[in-house]
Amino acid sequence: MRAPRLEIHLEHLRHNACTLVNRLARQGISVTGVSKATLGLPEIVRTWVAAGVQSIGESRIETIEALNRSGLAVPMLLIRSPMLSQVDRVVAHAAISCNSEPVVLKALAAAAARQGLRHGVLLMVELGDLREGILAADLEAIVQLTLALPSLLLVGIGTNLGCQYGVAPEASNMAELSALATALEGRFGIRLEWCSGGNSANLPWLAGGGHPGRINHLRLGEALLLGREPLTRTAIPGLYTDAITLVAEVIEAKRKPTLPWGSRQRTSFSTGSAAPLPEPDQPVAMRALLALGEQDADPAGLSAAGITIQGASSDHLVVGGPAIALEVGDEQRFAISYSSLLRAMTSPFVSRCFVEG
Ligand SMILES: *Cc1c(COP(=O)(O)O)cnc(C)c1O
Repeated sequence: MRAPRLEIHLEHLRHNACTLVNRLARQGISVTGVSKATLGLPEIVRTWVAAGVQSIGESRIETIEALNRSGLAVPMLLIRSPMLSQVDRVVAHAAISCNSEPVVLKALAAAAARQGLRHGVLLMVELGDLREGILAADLEAIVQLTLALPSLLLVGIGTNLGCQYGVAPEASNMAELSALATALEGRFGIRLEWCSGGNSANLPWLAGGGHPGRINHLRLGEALLLGREPLTRTAIPGLYTDAITLVAEVIEAKRKPTLPWGSRQRTSFSTGSAAPLPEPDQPVAMRALLALGEQDADPAGLSAAGITIQGASSDHLVVGGPAIALEVGDEQRFAISYSSLLRAMTSPFVSRCFVEG
């Protein structure tokens, strides 16, 4: 079989999606499946749709266009604010986009009018994580602008926490989003379809008894794919954390001295000078080289029982461990983090295969 490869267990992904969709439905929350870490892999997206995910969220218009071409009949949500240079493509291919800039809203409205379409808008509110979002004080004016543009349809408001500073969704910020939704509805006499509370980082708050209030929508990626919540990387009860794994092949396996020799300076991927090395337990140990590197996956996001990752450069992963018994030609499987998965999906050298059973 080809290596390196991502092994994707569609049945486990189906289970994760069904479990979360049903769990959240009991709290009145619908789910957009965010497929960006898989570059919108159609097999995964179709599995999610069959499991009850009501729309697909993607950060790149190119991926949304590809999913539309693959014949997927489900609404597409562009989860990153559109580039001004792409508004025509956005209104043509995405039902809804997340937005925070008046100039983009006007450009989307003009593009939608030219194409005879009505484009859905989810206005993102800044609640402290300092990535995208309108400050609460400016929200009313931007809602007013959106409502005045007849080729736009205000679908709701949303927020995104956890991604930039790791700010946790909790009672206070979620209540603020709910209160903003209610206030806007009262002020403008409208009904907001979505109050979109966030991403996988919102799950611990809900699981801990958090009251959804007006929150009736989440955009989930990591929880569906890897069964973990991103704030502490804790496994979510009842979900598979190994639905996607990375397999690499051993190209060298030798007993070698534990410590390097010669004077040391920077390594190919380090940002500072060589760090002092800890005193080793034993002078000589087994080490294996795998044909996998920074170009294929984020080494910091790989793990396997009994294996220590000792370093990585563009094309080599060096592993050790007290009891490793790898030989040239063997395959080693790794659990993979979200960031590492994102990179592996992007690498032309990593193949994907679907496993059954
Ligand atoms: C990536 C992203 C998501 C999904 O985040 P996960 O942590 O993978 O659930 C949701 N919303 C926005 C705006 C995103 O950028």
